[in-house]
Amino acid sequence: MRLLSAPWVVPIAVAPLREGALLVDAGGEVVAVGPRSELRRRYVHAPEERGAGALLPGLVNAHTHLELAALAGAVPGGDGLVAWATALMRALGGADIGGRVSRARIAEAAAAAASAGTAAVGDVGNSLIAAPCIGRAGLRGTLFHELIGSREAKTGDALADAARELAEGDHGTWPEGLRYVTAPHAPYSVGPDLLRRIFSAVGRRRLPTTIHVAEDPDEIALLRDGGGRWPAVLAAMGVEVASRVPRLGPLAYLASLGAFDTAAPPMLVHMVHAAPEDLQIAARAGSTVVLCPRSNLHIGGQLPDVEAMLAAGVPLALGTDSLASAPDVSLWGEMALLSARFPQLPAMRWLEAATRGGAEALRLSSFGVLAAGKRPGVIDVSLDDLEAPLESLVRNPSPTVRWMVRP
Ligand SMILES: [Zn+2]
Repeated sequence: MRLLSAPWVVPIAVAPLREGALLVDAGGEVVAVGPRSELRRRYVHAPEERGAGALLPGLVNAHTHLELAALAGAVPGGDGLVAWATALMRALGGADIGGRVSRARIAEAAAAAASAGTAAVGDVGNSLIAAPCIGRAGLRGTLFHELIGSREAKTGDALADAARELAEGDHGTWPEGLRYVTAPHAPYSVGPDLLRRIFSAVGRRRLPTTIHVAEDPDEIALLRDGGGRWPAVLAAMGVEVASRVPRLGPLAYLASLGAFDTAAPPMLVHMVHAAPEDLQIAARAGSTVVLCPRSNLHIGGQLPDVEAMLAAGVPLALGTDSLASAPDVSLWGEMALLSARFPQLPAMRWLEAATRGGAEALRLSSFGVLAAGKRPGVIDVSLDDLEAPLESLVRNPSPTVRWMVRP
């Protein structure tokens, strides 16, 4: 048993504690959390380790694409998703994503995420090559095997092809503590039949999947009436455009395909252009929206209406998205941007989203809070202002982070 103490403890589950402490056992499980004076009295013989700033649970980055690490800074944005996705596909054509250099970049990115205080990820990959890097970096969470319509068109059954890749791919022994879940990429890139089959398959496992949704005005226009810039791109790829025009809003469309007919509804990534109807559907289903604000600014120059999400009662998590649209894999940069752009919202909102929000969305019951019985990992994060610890935490995009307990 060890006592960990610091000027502040931010358990997330309860209010921050000035001069707080927690007792952890040898396996990293939290045994008790409380004022340092009280825990010191109760556990007289426990050795004490002191943190310099605030102790928090390890962060949960609910949306990454470590697979794309080799494309860091290589995909220009600013002209919306269709232009960015077209540039991404061009960059992918010239990148050896399964190659040695690419794998080294993935390993660096996974290690950087861990160094920034990340305990668990919701990582999305078209392949499974990030899995060993995630394991070696000591990260837990879910690897979402992302399926798109072209895989279905090429193989006749994208789910069966994904299962084959899981069984036979060159990703080595599957890391402990990393779940495998299939995920559809987005409503414009996956046809309705495959969407329905993925939602049904993951629903049977009672695990949440994830989908990029309501990210960009062209997606909304396509789904509503076949408008916007997607039809030309899809037609050039040989996709029957009419199959992607349900004449519904994005979440009504997903609902019609059974996305929310499950105890573990999908994580909804982006939702920058969500309408009130979309937020109502998400709130009713208990689906978490994963905000990736730096990616949104890079690609389309716009942020989601976070206040409307909160008013509708939608749970929030944070993700960095890929290095092809965000500068790093640290959630501190996401929190700093959100706190600057939404100064009226309390700092605790962002800290919650970066910890418990992601853990609950990913169904990681041991993560996201410092509370008895949990094993979330403990980080010591530097504070610029001891009198305003929460604001200090969310305003600094690159604090000093030290692991006191790895998850
Ligand atoms: Zn993404």
